[in-house]
Amino acid sequence: MTTSQPITPQPTTPFYKNGLNFECQRCSFCCGHSPGFVYLSKRDLLALCEFFKMTIKDFVARYCRWANYYGGTTVLSLQEKKNYDCILWDSGCTAYKARPVQCSTYPFWEWMLEEKSVWEDCAKDCPGMNCGHHWTFEEIEENRRKYVANIPLKKEEVEELIKAEEVK
Ligand code: SF4
Ligand code: SF4
Repeated sequence: MTTSQPITPQPTTPFYKNGLNFECQRCSFCCGHSPGFVYLSKRDLLALCEFFKMTIKDFVARYCRWANYYGGTTVLSLQEKKNYDCILWDSGCTAYKARPVQCSTYPFWEWMLEEKSVWEDCAKDCPGMNCGHHWTFEEIEENRRKYVANIPLKKEEVEELIKAEEVK
């Protein structure tokens, strides 16, 4: 699941002003099959540690890797298996209730909503887009905003969290 293209201002009248249809068909394509990154914010990391009852240090060592990000930063991401499946995939998301915001807001990502042509292009890889449940403009916007606000943790921020955990 790849994400985080540069953010650009939304047009005054978005193409999705009347809503969009999306219902996951559980094809699993966005959880694996090809290289990508699932970036983790502080909220994501804490939720996953709580879900797996693991310390931050252990969760990062067991399930995470570092990824080069915009602006030359290095940020936290989930690992992939050798076949490019997400490390948390096992015939379904093993952390579904605590899955990262990047996953729960899909396909209402900022860059996918920039233009109808981008949305339609992405829909070629996701059989759930343009079918099933109707999402209102307000619901789409709520997800878009959540996605934008979910900033990946920088390496030094993770190191600080681990240090703080160790002195508790
Ligand atoms: S690619 Fe689309 S339909 Fe397939 S699992 Fe992901 S969200 Fe669901
Ligand atoms: S965290 Fe779960 S929903 Fe997200 S890519 Fe991994 S397996 Fe899929």
